[in-house]
Amino acid sequence: MSSDTDSAACGKKCPHCGLWKDWDHFSKDSSKTPPYNSYCKLCDAIKKKNIKIRHTIEALQSDDTEQHAPHLYIMCLSTDPCGVQHGLKIGCAASATARAQSLGTSMPFKLHVLAEFHGLGHLESRVHAILAGLRNVEGSGREWFRVSLADAVHAIATVISARDST
Ligand SMILES: [Zn+2]
Repeated sequence: MSSDTDSAACGKKCPHCGLWKDWDHFSKDSSKTPPYNSYCKLCDAIKKKNIKIRHTIEALQSDDTEQHAPHLYIMCLSTDPCGVQHGLKIGCAASATARAQSLGTSMPFKLHVLAEFHGLGHLESRVHAILAGLRNVEGSGREWFRVSLADAVHAIATVISARDST
């Protein structure tokens, strides 16, 4: 008796927009009974567009974090390029080069950036934790570690692969 039953032969109500539409407003979908998409063509297009917009926004946001996230760096003193005497400095900064310059301004030596890991500054504390036993305990240079460059890179690689596997 209801109008829904009577009119089912020529269309249905779209659950998204809530409008009753003729079947020609729905895409064909043979896996369904009746063989039409649940949503009307218009809602389907909007849904697809929304997914595309969301993906675009997510891509833009991840680009953004890549660019603005601080970088993880390894530095040495220009007078001690292998860190034999003073160790190596492992820290994070928006620009390792700028940090090295500002640290070296009032000193009789420079700081050299040996390596910079793009956008991985947030891993700093985990790298420091791995190297905790080798941390400099003299003076206030808490980001200095008694490690070779190879050991420092290895510690960073370990943190990166641990992060990637989770
Ligand atoms: Zn609809």
